[in-house]
Amino acid sequence: MLHPEEKYLTRRVLSMQESQTMRISNLANKMKAEGNDIVSLSAGEPDFPTPENVTQAAIDAINAGFTRYTANSGIPELKKAIVEKFRRENALEFKENQIIVSNGGKQTLANTFLALCQEGDEVIVPAPYWVSFPEMVRLAGATPVIVHTTLEAEYKMTPAQLEEVITPNTKILVLNSPSNPTGAVYTEAEVRALMAVLEGREIFVISDEMYDMIVYGDIRPFSPARIPAMKEWVIVSNGVSKTYAMTGWRIGYLAGPKWLIDACDKIQSQTTSNANAIAQKAAVAALTGDQSIVEERRVEFQKRRDYMYQALNSIPGFKTALPQGAFYIFPDISGVLGQTFNGVVMKDSADVAEYLLKVHHVATVPGDAFGAPENLRLSYAASITSLEEAVNRIRRAFK
Ligand code: PLP
Repeated sequence: MLHPEEKYLTRRVLSMQESQTMRISNLANKMKAEGNDIVSLSAGEPDFPTPENVTQAAIDAINAGFTRYTANSGIPELKKAIVEKFRRENALEFKENQIIVSNGGKQTLANTFLALCQEGDEVIVPAPYWVSFPEMVRLAGATPVIVHTTLEAEYKMTPAQLEEVITPNTKILVLNSPSNPTGAVYTEAEVRALMAVLEGREIFVISDEMYDMIVYGDIRPFSPARIPAMKEWVIVSNGVSKTYAMTGWRIGYLAGPKWLIDACDKIQSQTTSNANAIAQKAAVAALTGDQSIVEERRVEFQKRRDYMYQALNSIPGFKTALPQGAFYIFPDISGVLGQTFNGVVMKDSADVAEYLLKVHHVATVPGDAFGAPENLRLSYAASITSLEEAVNRIRRAFK
């Protein structure tokens, strides 16, 4: 007899996987609630609080009764602040009618895939990828085409790799720089070389720039939308979640050709309507207020990145590239795979993550979720003390 989920659920949903990052976070939370001392490096969010000017703007909005539906695509004040942000930080020029505000970066991306993809379309997704990209592509009915990158190439796709997978069905290339989960950042020269492959080929680029303000050293992220020949083909997704520690507020924004923004507006108008009114006011405060906190936090993340890079590379069996942005580190742990710990053979990173969580009480995310089964994702959005404790436990785990 068929189970109800097999009988009634659509192919669209059955072809999707549950978010693995959520699964491990839930398990870690459950173990914590049961009284275990868990060091959690699995979350994809800053450990800092939302800045006070932002929370105050939300309180003011509530007190002023700003609690009703807004324009579906976002309040004009916020769109203006987003246009200014793109000009100030990314050297990008957009008009307000080229912007839509959605419920987090996630919804901007989901809207875009729904607007552009259908059966038969192929979407190129370099791996390691952010967990939701292939699933959103499938949900929209298209086929993700995964391109595997290497530690030696700092987990960046080369123009030759891109050229190799393009077919007449290729509709979109997804670029995410700085990357979740690797922290890789494409340089201007690298972005230009990839875009040179696409020029004149009617292939869109979805550029997920969610971590553009969290970068280290001299490297500056370079948006493919900066390239005039690609301007009509690039859609930029960003949001306030990571830069301003506002993950729970659910404000993301998308910029691109007006016809596509209008299509996203139509989809959103029939699914969720506008993003939360109060959170939109808070996002205005975040984008237009004093930006010094962004820099202070970036400097703090860089200290943690430096610590994690040297500490993890000193653990036998771990090899990691130096993350240039975001707040994740993604060691290759193939050196410990095949070995037995606590009576269990470590076949892949899921076994390793489970062993680390259940026996040593460190929550990480297995690389399978990101298309890289020989890696582990650790988030360093945690205090240095927690990071040191986590590293000590991991070192002990693989003695
Ligand atoms: N894009 C990337 C690369 C992310 O890592 C995330 C969040 O983890 C998002 C988009 C979605 O962000 P939001 O919380 O604004 O939906």
